[in-house]
Amino acid sequence: MITVLFGPPGSGKGTQAMAVAGRFGLPHVSTGEMLRAEVEQDSELGREVAPIMSSGRLISDELMIRVIESRLQRADAAQGVLLDGFPRTVPQAQALDAMLKRGTRQVDLVLAFVVAEDVLRARILRRGEIEHRADDTADAFAQRMTQYHEETAPVLEHYAAEGTHIEQIQGEGTISEVTERIADAFNRSRVVPAS
Ligand code: AMP
Repeated sequence: MITVLFGPPGSGKGTQAMAVAGRFGLPHVSTGEMLRAEVEQDSELGREVAPIMSSGRLISDELMIRVIESRLQRADAAQGVLLDGFPRTVPQAQALDAMLKRGTRQVDLVLAFVVAEDVLRARILRRGEIEHRADDTADAFAQRMTQYHEETAPVLEHYAAEGTHIEQIQGEGTISEVTERIADAFNRSRVVPAS
């Protein structure tokens, strides 16, 4: 079962993916985390992507598609994954569809997080103070929102046009309230993973 967690920066995709991964035993695949690990290791890839990430811009589709393709080939992805932060552009979504189709798979469910922009901004700035993530600054947040509106929002239209099951998740409230809304969405979509 392939689930895409979709939403703007600060909407809780990563937090909820972690909660849901533990509960349903599905691997949490976060492209942002994978890239941050490369930056941390100071690898060649990490050095290439670090300045792009800290400015709040997107890494090229070509590179991201390669990263996700090799991740989905790992054994733990066979039962399904929770995708967090991918796909972020329509070409990424099309490439994902094509690679899943080769294995007679598909995106089964899109969880689309809805959170007001002032709440997103407050969350990101608070996380910046705690975790010191390079892109959790006011300037990078503004850039990430621009990228979201221009490049990422059309991904939802892509899945709607494909007839993929989309569930809107109200992303405000406590972490556990939102996790319960996700569990309900899994039930409604009839693609409940084995817990
Ligand atoms: P995230 O942790 O999902 O907020 O991602 C942090 C940053 O990593 C983004 O602002 C991008 O610079 C980069 N990134 C992560 N996933 C992608 C993706 N699918 N496409 C392009 N850039 C990405």
